[in-house]
Amino acid sequence: MPTIDPDRLMADLRELRSIGAVETGVVRPALGEKDMEARRWLKAKFEAAGLTATIDGVGNVLGRSSKPGPALLIGSHSDTQPRGGWLDGALGVIYGLEIARAMAEDPATAGLAVDVVSWQDEEGTYMSCFGSRSWCGTLDPAVEKASSNAALGMTLTEAIAKAGLTDVPRMTIEKDRYLGYLEAHIEQGAYLEEGGLHIGVVTGIVAIRGMRFRFHGEQNHAGTTTMRRRKDAATALFEVAHRVNQEFPKVAGERTVWTMGRVAVQPGAPSIVPGYAELDLQFRDLDETILDRFEEIAAEIARDVGARGKVKVEVERSRTPIKPSWMDEGFQKHLTGAAETTVPGKWLSMPSAAGHDPMVISEKIPCAMLFIPSIGGISHDFAEDSHESDIVLGCRVLADAAASILEERRNR
Ligand SMILES: [Zn+2]
Repeated sequence: MPTIDPDRLMADLRELRSIGAVETGVVRPALGEKDMEARRWLKAKFEAAGLTATIDGVGNVLGRSSKPGPALLIGSHSDTQPRGGWLDGALGVIYGLEIARAMAEDPATAGLAVDVVSWQDEEGTYMSCFGSRSWCGTLDPAVEKASSNAALGMTLTEAIAKAGLTDVPRMTIEKDRYLGYLEAHIEQGAYLEEGGLHIGVVTGIVAIRGMRFRFHGEQNHAGTTTMRRRKDAATALFEVAHRVNQEFPKVAGERTVWTMGRVAVQPGAPSIVPGYAELDLQFRDLDETILDRFEEIAAEIARDVGARGKVKVEVERSRTPIKPSWMDEGFQKHLTGAAETTVPGKWLSMPSAAGHDPMVISEKIPCAMLFIPSIGGISHDFAEDSHESDIVLGCRVLADAAASILEERRNR
């Protein structure tokens, strides 16, 4: 089994952290100056590890092994949220780099091919999973052309030009080369920490659906309109929201989540009975039958509240549903085997409730994901962190699993 070097691993993670460091976090949004600086740094690191490294026309950084395939691709993303944590994405990229080095250094695994990747814009500064979509050939040119970031005041096309990538060729998947793709990531939740566990082996990435309620009432004076006469859109909204929280737990699974993360009340003034309101409801689970029931219940509640005739209530899907993505079962066995050897009984098979590049990549090649615990379950925040012992342990488990996947194939 390859022996990873904990000091080298931590030193590289800290150096990458310094590019775009702000307070305890990192600000490295996709295609910005700091993001591109980090990508050039990664390219040099990949080359120093003996890989042939390329930054392609969307900013994906690929380090390709000179060993013949079949290869494993290992990585994650190095772009961040507008105010992101230092490990979100970076962890998986540096794991890939360290595993490629450790494999090359061990005569027993030196002949095995490990390629390393940092995908572009996983976080959706312009388009979520932009880099992996481009690589997989599933990028819709019309969607790319329409993508922009309002806060940055820039289109994706302009950002690519500014990064100097307009005329740089884009890489596409070499399907015959890869056995599959492995990605390690911080959990971004608290299941592992709360369970006193150190490794999560991802079974699948949850499905996501969203619905929007629209409430049509009658705007009027908040003093002179009697309670009997008023048609208050916000009151209907509050009732729907309350009923959702009453009814959903009756059909929810242990890990089902739902969020009412956006409301709009118009005109939004203390002395006006609201004439119109909107409520966005989003829900996630691996089990789509639960999400089907949620959609039915949401429609029943809307019908029910609307049937009183005071406020008209409409509800419809607000986004294209995201299907669940299943991780490869064979790869999962290698990961659970490596986890059980390294931390017996201290690992968990679990779904990912956050989206990741394997949602896109698993349509083309087998994928697997490994989680390490997030302290306090915090992420997408400067406070995000993980224990150094877990960072090192996670890399060991992923390295062992990668070696055993490649060796199994070699011995076949
Ligand atoms: Zn991430």
